[in-house]
Amino acid sequence: MENTEKKDILEELELYDCPICHGVGMLDESNGWIYAICNDCGSQTGEVPYKTAEEREAVARKVVELWNMGKVIVCGRVE
Ligand SMILES: [Zn+2]
Repeated sequence: MENTEKKDILEELELYDCPICHGVGMLDESNGWIYAICNDCGSQTGEVPYKTAEEREAVARKVVELWNMGKVIVCGRVE
C-alpha cells in the first residue's frame, strides 16, 4: 500500500508571524487566487491568481515572500 503523503505546497511553505500583530499567518486560496492572511487581525497580502499547477506553486512562494516582507493590507480589525 502506497502512503507517500505529499504535502500540499500551501502547507509546506513557512510564513513568518503577522507583521502587524505577530499572530499566526496562513496561506489560503479561493477560485484560483492565493493569498496569505492573519488568523488574528485579518491583515492579508494581495490576492495573486494562478492557472496551472506550476503557476500555483510559484504564486504560493511569491505570496509567502510578500507576507514575509510585511507587504500586507491592514484590515482595520486591529485594536
Ligand atoms: Zn495579525
